[in-house]
Amino acid sequence: MVAEVIIDISHKNLDHTFSYRIPERLKADVQVGSKVEIPFGKGDKIRTGYVVELDEEVKKENASYTLKEIAGIVPKSVSAEENLVALADFIHRRYGSTMINALKTVLPVKKASNKKVRQMIVSDVPEITIRQGIQIAEGKKQRAKVRLLEELLRSNRLSYSLVTGKLNVSSSTIKSLEKDGFLSIEVMQSSDTPFAFRKEEDAIPTLSDEQRTVVESIEADRKVHPFGEYYIYGITGSGKTEVYMRLIENCLNEGKQAILLIPEIALTYQNLMRFYRRFGNKVAVVHSKLTDSEKFEQFEKAKSGEISIMIGPRSALFTPFPNLGMVIIDEEHESSYKSETMPKYHAREVAAELCRLSLSSLVMGSATPSLESFSRIQKGEIKCFKLNKRLTGGELPSVHIVDMKEELQSGNRTVFSAKLATLMQDRLEKGEQTMLFLNRRGYAGSILCRDCGEVIKCPHCDISLSEHRGGVLMCHYCGYMTDMVKKCPKCGSAKVAGFRAGTEQIEEEIRKRFPQAVVLRMDADTTKKAEDYEAILSRFASREADILLGTQMIVKGHDFPGVTLMGILLADTSLSHNDYRAAERTFQLLTQAAGRAGRASSGGETVIQTYQPEHYAIVHAANQDYEGFYKEEIEYRDFMEYPPCGHMLCVQFFGPDWNRLSRLSLGLTKEVSELFTEDAPKQIGPGKAALGKKNDIYRQVVYYKHHSTEPLTKIKDFMEERIQTLSLNREQLQFDFDPMNTF
Ligand code: ADP
Ligand code: ZN
Ligand code: ZN
Repeated sequence: MVAEVIIDISHKNLDHTFSYRIPERLKADVQVGSKVEIPFGKGDKIRTGYVVELDEEVKKENASYTLKEIAGIVPKSVSAEENLVALADFIHRRYGSTMINALKTVLPVKKASNKKVRQMIVSDVPEITIRQGIQIAEGKKQRAKVRLLEELLRSNRLSYSLVTGKLNVSSSTIKSLEKDGFLSIEVMQSSDTPFAFRKEEDAIPTLSDEQRTVVESIEADRKVHPFGEYYIYGITGSGKTEVYMRLIENCLNEGKQAILLIPEIALTYQNLMRFYRRFGNKVAVVHSKLTDSEKFEQFEKAKSGEISIMIGPRSALFTPFPNLGMVIIDEEHESSYKSETMPKYHAREVAAELCRLSLSSLVMGSATPSLESFSRIQKGEIKCFKLNKRLTGGELPSVHIVDMKEELQSGNRTVFSAKLATLMQDRLEKGEQTMLFLNRRGYAGSILCRDCGEVIKCPHCDISLSEHRGGVLMCHYCGYMTDMVKKCPKCGSAKVAGFRAGTEQIEEEIRKRFPQAVVLRMDADTTKKAEDYEAILSRFASREADILLGTQMIVKGHDFPGVTLMGILLADTSLSHNDYRAAERTFQLLTQAAGRAGRASSGGETVIQTYQPEHYAIVHAANQDYEGFYKEEIEYRDFMEYPPCGHMLCVQFFGPDWNRLSRLSLGLTKEVSELFTEDAPKQIGPGKAALGKKNDIYRQVVYYKHHSTEPLTKIKDFMEERIQTLSLNREQLQFDFDPMNTF
């Protein structure tokens, strides 16, 4: 037996492994991930390394050497590095990727960085002067100036790019304020903290009784259970973040560190500033816009103890803290926590493993928990605490469900129901703001009857069919194909068609019907640059527009006190989206969206326009009733054996030659079927993937379903082995456990 060993573990060294023979006495103990002692170099100095691969025999290129032997195994300890290697091993086993690739996921890339300089906006003038400046700017309606000056009241050092980006203040505005003596521009090194704080920090609120109970219960439980999982279940504004901050503070007091995962889209200026103001320069942030070397720098600071709190999306999990105490996952239900590239890991599962390894606590929070987590709460595996009260004031809006089939019957062919149009007119007259959410998920061609709301589904999978070129309908799970239907199978109506409405068309229609309204549109086209997103939000927040029209992006966690009407157009397109999570996703989106109106005061209203007014996802979302939704949805998952009631493995095959690819997928799946004599996983496919060909590479897909993960892992292991014996490229096969999307 031969082991491939990495010495001096780092991202840079991952491609240089060294082969060592495993002596008989160590055979049972050496595994992938083991830390071993090996003789190295001319003097055979003993060094330590990690085993990343085991082979039966010596690789050809090494055949002429006499391999040295592994000298011994280093007992496991709990350093940050060893936790990360163990985590990589978990990812490699659980999700199917090489150990090297898994290590590449968890270890930061070290890159020589030419220190980037950063420009800072610094203000030394007294507060009173700034307040006078604000008054003058307000009088002249110079909104950008007001925004920047107000921010300078809170912190007197701001990063230049943050101001031009997130606050949407142009450089000419900054120059003009510089000329008037309100600020100056300085240059600093990139690793310095980009903020400084005036003395008047946010007052730390006294916890509500509910919040105090949560903090105290978790603290008490952590003392007896070194590794525990907790859930804080409460609507937006119920005080979850404040609870996170208390728990983090306690961690720091114990000399430990904390990781807070937040979906990228919620890493907004306001959210981050809240943490900076509370914890100052103990906080670091990683996000997708950082370069590799900037990210590396943040991780080095974590290692050296310079910072104690890391905030960021998925990859923040791999922060090498020396003494991790807690991982918090906010908006736990978000699908962005699942990686869409190999290894396709789920941050929630990896976080749980990290907490097990490092004896830390895992805290999750959401208003609409994932079905996975809520079913574990029901089983008592996660301790759940509920926050019932909204601390921001304001009442839940009243919700109207409008049946769009009736609108059509009464001759209304526009996208706005009579109810919504009337309310929009009313808000315009009162000078209040409206948000319009176009639910476009699944817009890629589901077929729906405009008379009865029936969605055309696959007879084998209960998943909606999608329209493809040439008028064929196809199931993305099993490959079932049929001609485009001419009539609704339920009511016989000829009005069956796919959805075609986009934000642009709707914007046009608003301009025609409400010519006096100022409209902002937010979608993929208007937010090409990262700053655009915050710029639109901040313009809407400062009431530069009456109506904000947009896709999913407008729904996530932003408070607009001026909004008293939320219109949800096409609520059910995401219901007909072709995968088993469609109802869950729709419920989450609608619940969030419905809660948007009426933050500030009473009188908020939400209109949900739908073709399926009686669908349980829509009815429960209108009532903000998560548990009601959960009960119905879990029954469906149970009946169909979809996660979390069963498990799924999706295997994707890639190749340039369609015939060879078909033979490969058919051959491999046949061999797999011979692996099991009883209780075999259910096989669906292989079939053409939804995206059947990309860049001249064909794609096939096969799904396996089973009530436990073990046989699915067995299939994955078997296929991986076959890739090697068939000398196939590893890139030709990808594995996805409990997929978030279908392919
Ligand atoms: P969530 O994370 O559930 O949306 P937050 O923690 O952000 O809730 O709280 C919502 C708002 O209420 C914030 O503006 C926050 O500052 C405020 N808040 C939170 N806890 C308290 C408290 N105990 N007393 C007063 N205000 C609070
Ligand atoms: Zn099917
Ligand atoms: Zn019909």
